[in-house]
Amino acid sequence: MALQLRPNCEYCDKDLPANSMEARICSYECTFCADCVENKLHNVCPNCGGGFAPRPIRPATPWRAGVCTEAHPPSNKRVHLKFSLDDVAEHSARVQEIRPEDR
Ligand SMILES: [Zn+2]
Ligand SMILES: [Zn+2]
Repeated sequence: MALQLRPNCEYCDKDLPANSMEARICSYECTFCADCVENKLHNVCPNCGGGFAPRPIRPATPWRAGVCTEAHPPSNKRVHLKFSLDDVAEHSARVQEIRPEDR
């Protein structure tokens, strides 16, 4: 199974294409931009409470046969927050003081 490579930030809806260096994901592939992770979420996933890591790019060039964005296209299903901004802020405030490895 390949990563879905979701097309946008759930928080601000910024486009995050497969080659974006700004995409961040949690272990469930909740996807946000680096700016929202740092300044809005404080490295707390609104959906699961885990932290984030940079999402690797998927090459557009088939450097090896059958593995590139043409063979495994990114998802085109935009995902949006299912919690209010107030709820997300409260959740982040509650969880952010706990180191990700201790959550
Ligand atoms: Zn964002
Ligand atoms: Zn998550």
